[in-house]
Amino acid sequence: MKIMYPGSFDPITLGHIDLIERCAKMFDEVEIAILENDSKSATFSVEERLEMIRESISKWSNVRVSAGSGLAVEYAKQINCSVLLRGIRAVMDYEYELQVATANRVLDKDVETLFLVASPKYSYVSSSLARTIARYGGDLKEFVPDHVAVKLREKFSK
Ligand code: ADP
Repeated sequence: MKIMYPGSFDPITLGHIDLIERCAKMFDEVEIAILENDSKSATFSVEERLEMIRESISKWSNVRVSAGSGLAVEYAKQINCSVLLRGIRAVMDYEYELQVATANRVLDKDVETLFLVASPKYSYVSSSLARTIARYGGDLKEFVPDHVAVKLREKFSK
């Protein structure tokens, strides 16, 4: 069975990677889908995000990444997938995720959303926090892989 992990991944963090690793053990295939988020304007281009994700997932043969636009349920159908993966770090995530998962269910009742709870080690990690730390020159090693830290520093030194 295949699961799709939709998100902004702006950029991919150790928290995302932890979820991907856990899912790669449970599912035959994991497809990460970079989908534009209406309410967030991205720091990295889709191409930059694809490249950072590709480098982060190279050790798993059953994980791939693609990018699309539009609704997650529509994109899932396009790639022949009927399960979506989302992560929950805190109650704040839960409220938003519950609304999105319910809306997706109304849009397509055949698409299920599976939630994984963040590992305690990464429950405070987010892309936006990683961007803020990079902007002020802080240590990124507990937030993103080294190759992503390099890209973040490059981006904010301009
Ligand atoms: P979006 O803009 O769609 O929320 P994100 O890239 O911010 O995209 O997040 C994608 C998904 O990954 C969301 O469900 C989010 O809750 C989850 N996620 C993000 N960071 C973590 C983390 N540290 N641990 C577990 N899940 C996470």
